[in-house]
Amino acid sequence: MEPGRFVSLLVPSRCPLCRRYRDPGVLVCGECMRCLNRSPLLRKDPPERVDRIVSCGDHQGAARELLAAFKFRHLTKLAGLIAGFMADAAGPVGEGGLLVPVPPARLRTWMRGFDPVALLADEISTLIDLPVPVDPVLVRRGSGRQRGRGRSGRISDPPDIEPVEGAGMILGGREALLIDDVMTTGATLSAAAGALRKAGVSRVYALTFTRRL
Ligand SMILES: [Zn+2]
Repeated sequence: MEPGRFVSLLVPSRCPLCRRYRDPGVLVCGECMRCLNRSPLLRKDPPERVDRIVSCGDHQGAARELLAAFKFRHLTKLAGLIAGFMADAAGPVGEGGLLVPVPPARLRTWMRGFDPVALLADEISTLIDLPVPVDPVLVRRGSGRQRGRGRSGRISDPPDIEPVEGAGMILGGREALLIDDVMTTGATLSAAAGALRKAGVSRVYALTFTRRL
């Protein structure tokens, strides 16, 4: 075995998206970066109770691999890269607006060891200068299992998301930009938007990295 190959086994220098070798100084390889930059910006009909939705691209190819590497392989250093794309796509939010991550199911966060959406929201917050409330303003009850339940199940049985007590004091009369990693049916965003409106939010916008068609 050649020495260079041996070193690469010790130092992980493969692209986390396509597993090809990459330059040690970059997070993902040049080819994957070109794919990500080509992703179209989607502006389609927003879910119920959401005034505007923007997603960075389809849930496929390099964008999907990037999200999977971040969420399921705990490559939290990729948060800044994903947040960068999302910040570019965010769109305008009114004066005094807030960034609100869609609340996770507690069991899922516990199993995963981190909350990827909250992490993205924090990164986006610094990039577009829109604050995230210090304490969570929304709470999600139940197991919140959405993956693998099928499209009809997700629509008929939306997640139970409510404002926390006193959320109206923080949210009342303001605009909010909801953050989620991926939009599938829009049931989760719609439930979160409903909770924000219940707490007095005037306009609800949504921003996700990918959108499953
Ligand atoms: Zn790659």
